[in-house]
Amino acid sequence: MTSASMSASTPSAEFRAAGTDLSERRRSGVSQGPLIDITARPDTIGIDWGVDGAARIGAFTTIAAIAADARINGAYPGLAAAALGLATPQIRHLATLGGNLAQRSRCWYYRNPHIACLKKGGPDCPARSGNHLYSVAFDLGPCVAPHPSTMAAALLAYDAKIITDRRSGLTIGDVLGDGSNGAADHALASGELITAIQLSPPVRGERALYQRAISRSHAEWPLVEVCVRAVVSSGSIQFIRVAAGGIAPVPLRLSASEAALQGAPANPANIARAAHQATAGANPLPMTGYKLELLSGLVHDLLERLAA
Ligand SMILES: Cc1cc2nc3c(=O)[nH]c(=O)nc-3n(C[C@H](O)[C@H](O)[C@H](O)COP(=O)(O)OP(=O)(O)OC[C@H]3O[C@@H](n4cnc5c(N)ncnc54)[C@H](O)[C@@H]3O)c2cc1C
Repeated sequence: MTSASMSASTPSAEFRAAGTDLSERRRSGVSQGPLIDITARPDTIGIDWGVDGAARIGAFTTIAAIAADARINGAYPGLAAAALGLATPQIRHLATLGGNLAQRSRCWYYRNPHIACLKKGGPDCPARSGNHLYSVAFDLGPCVAPHPSTMAAALLAYDAKIITDRRSGLTIGDVLGDGSNGAADHALASGELITAIQLSPPVRGERALYQRAISRSHAEWPLVEVCVRAVVSSGSIQFIRVAAGGIAPVPLRLSASEAALQGAPANPANIARAAHQATAGANPLPMTGYKLELLSGLVHDLLERLAA
């Protein structure tokens, strides 16, 4: 199709990487515009290491390759565990990191071609008054679908920077937005391509864990997922990052939990306080209050294991 033959109502073109998300939306008719098949260049696939020990991961690297990389496992164990925990072996083998970050919502109203919703140009979010069992517990915008990207939640814990073909040094927040735009799942410009993710060198002595609460044992998005990094030295917490997915339109840093622990003794009372603080600012929907218990439980478990 040439640009001259495209009308104003023609849906904009969509990139296709491995197509594990896109093909389902094409089949149902939710995605209808022209496709641009994208393939890896040598600088957009694989993992490179800086002399400072920081990894740069090409956006076309598969989730399976990230999960299986021994050096990633050593330096960024929370990221490797997140990669290993998502979807199925078949999906992980194909799915790319860029596609994972830019994947569209899993909300069943959005995925149903017969139901209007904000993400398809509709007037409102049908999940609000409908069945929102798997929706947000931090209601930050007009759409109540949680962001689906597991890798984004883990990369948020790692303060990762995203590089596109137009910009560099972007935070996860720059790329995914703050949840206030119910019409979009990311804040990339039209036609902007994620090319790589830059990580910082690991903090000396840090350990990290990732865990998800899920409604069935595999092949499902998590209800809640948490990635925690910590440096525990001489019995106190010198460094802490807590990030969670499945609870809000974008992955969230749990800053109240972090504040409860930064510089504090890694004892049961402080861990319990930080787990309680994980739900600070939550405003669940009528059906999503259960996610708060899952969230504080996951944070508690991970902190206990890191402090042990
Ligand atoms: C049963 C099942 C369970 C799943 N569970 C999880 C889970 O727990 N956690 C999770 O995170 N995911 C989960 N997924 C989703 C899966 O991880 C995504 O489908 C996959 O990561 C998308 O990658 P892809 O390369 O196939 O992207 P594609 O399907 O090719 O593209 C997805 C979207 O991203 C855009 N895109 C692709 N690459 C780029 C790029 N480089 N720059 C800009 N835009 C781009 C495309 O235009 C498209 O809109 C699951 C999927 C299935 C089927």
